[in-house]
Amino acid sequence: MGLLPALADLVLPRTCAGCGVPGRSLCGSCAALLTVPHLAQPRRFPAGFPPTVAAGAYAGAVRPVVNAFKEHGRAELARPLGAALALAVAAVRTGLVAPAGPVLLVPVPGSRAALASRGRDHVRELTVRAVAELREAGVPAAEHRLLRRRGRVHDSAGLTAVQRRANLAGTFVLDPRRRRAPAGAILVLVDDVVTTGATLCAAAEVLAEAATADRTVVLAAVVAATPRPSGPSRTEPTGPAGYRLRTVPVGHHDRLSGPGTRD
Ligand SMILES: [Zn+2]
Repeated sequence: MGLLPALADLVLPRTCAGCGVPGRSLCGSCAALLTVPHLAQPRRFPAGFPPTVAAGAYAGAVRPVVNAFKEHGRAELARPLGAALALAVAAVRTGLVAPAGPVLLVPVPGSRAALASRGRDHVRELTVRAVAELREAGVPAAEHRLLRRRGRVHDSAGLTAVQRRANLAGTFVLDPRRRRAPAGAILVLVDDVVTTGATLCAAAEVLAEAATADRTVVLAAVVAATPRPSGPSRTEPTGPAGYRLRTVPVGHHDRLSGPGTRD
């Protein structure tokens, strides 16, 4: 912990970012909402939507938690949210028949405007924490920043899924400065939240180019996913050949490592 957050802890009483209860920055009940990994199910699966696991539902107390971290500088939430992301990465990996390769977490790059207004890259902060958690749990994981943004993208707030897709088309490119992923690597796109799935689709499409060349697989993991309204899905995701995860087994998913109470 840096000096300023440490000082802030002394001066400001901490409350749970989810429910406001005094004490830890994320109370036990709110933290538990991020230990229910499940397949993300956008209302309509956009074409090319990668198999995506979310650690929790983007609803209720989870929304203010993500928002506090993302928009209000509650940087101490990187640890519990990064742990949630690690859980989602570990869960999405279980769908592979032979998950032998290294797991490379590819953060979805933020737009230049978003990075400038926040003054930080919150998705990368989550990625770094998730990699640490995964390694601690014995999963061979690393960050691999394969993507970068290109061109000008307008704020996607208020756009429909189709408009978002058009807005994002051509947004991401493989970063030519990066090493290619090693053959057999498991590429896991990581982001904070998935809503319509348009961003993950656009990013996965670009990563798939690298995947074909290197015999890699593209999956995705997020902290939280917008819950789909009840009712049968109109379309199904098209995962990579051999991907078999349909439901995430429940019961044995908690934190990957360490005591569940730390924050
Ligand atoms: Zn709480």
